[in-house]
Amino acid sequence: MPATLRLENKVAIVTGGGNGIGLETSLVFASEGAHVVAADINEDAAKRAVELIQQQFPDAPKAIAVKCDVSKEADIKQMVATAVETFGRLDVMFNNAGIMHPQDDNALNTEERIWDLTMNTDRSRLYSNLKGVWWGCKYAIEAMRKNPGGSKGSIINTASFVAILGAATPQLAYTASKGAVLAMTRELAVVHAREGIRINSLCPGPLETKLLMDFLDTPEKKNRRLVHVPMGRFGKAVEQAKGVLFLASDDSSFVTGTDFKVDGGICAAYVTPE
Ligand code: NAD
Repeated sequence: MPATLRLENKVAIVTGGGNGIGLETSLVFASEGAHVVAADINEDAAKRAVELIQQQFPDAPKAIAVKCDVSKEADIKQMVATAVETFGRLDVMFNNAGIMHPQDDNALNTEERIWDLTMNTDRSRLYSNLKGVWWGCKYAIEAMRKNPGGSKGSIINTASFVAILGAATPQLAYTASKGAVLAMTRELAVVHAREGIRINSLCPGPLETKLLMDFLDTPEKKNRRLVHVPMGRFGKAVEQAKGVLFLASDDSSFVTGTDFKVDGGICAAYVTPE
């Protein structure tokens, strides 16, 4: 049997597409035949992602880079419009961009400013773990409803394992923002299920990406976490990308509203192997 590409001719937007999970997902999507829109607040990183796609997968369909700050609704609206104008439809939306603030702490120490930055209120338009995901869903759903051939699509929102497990190394605002992503995704999945639009959350475990390694900048901080990972290592961004591919493709055609964990077993653990 000839191998089929799992995203052949599909159009996929990846936010935070310039680094980490987003970059690896852009590459995996392209390798599976998708037109990739690599969107990032860092335009150079988005362009680099497209160059990497062209280098590694010269036969992949056309990919484009878009500068988009997901804390700005107008940027997200424009990003979706660009995808549809360029490729004629939108099949996959990966709302992945997110931040972890180094001053995010426990209930007593977290400043309101840090909370607002993480959630994104009108006062701060820099970061957006939550509002940007809502806007990404909103404009993706609008576009997917208008797809030639009828309403259809898959939306994946990046949450985190900390949305499921409490940690004694607190990052209260981050955890709350990711918990909200799970709850919002579940509800959206139910509301739009009969329109042919599937919506799932990705819950990555701790990964060897810049985001986490900048935060865990000493061996002690790393080991404090690793002891709780049954597999005894941090995950790799590409391992998330493979999970996202499943959720994006028709392989997951009966999967919606799920908290999809790619976490090395953390959420299943009480005592880990020595
Ligand atoms: P990363 O820092 O490696 O990459 C994030 C990318 O997002 C960067 O290219 C950055 O420029 C971009 N970005 C940041 N703010 C943006 C904005 N406002 N608009 C558009 N782009 C923006 O991060 P990563 O580790 O790949 O994390 C991606 C997602 O996964 C985040 O939502 C993060 O919270 C989540 N996550 C990460 C881990 C981990 O251990 N790394 C674990 C669980 C969840």
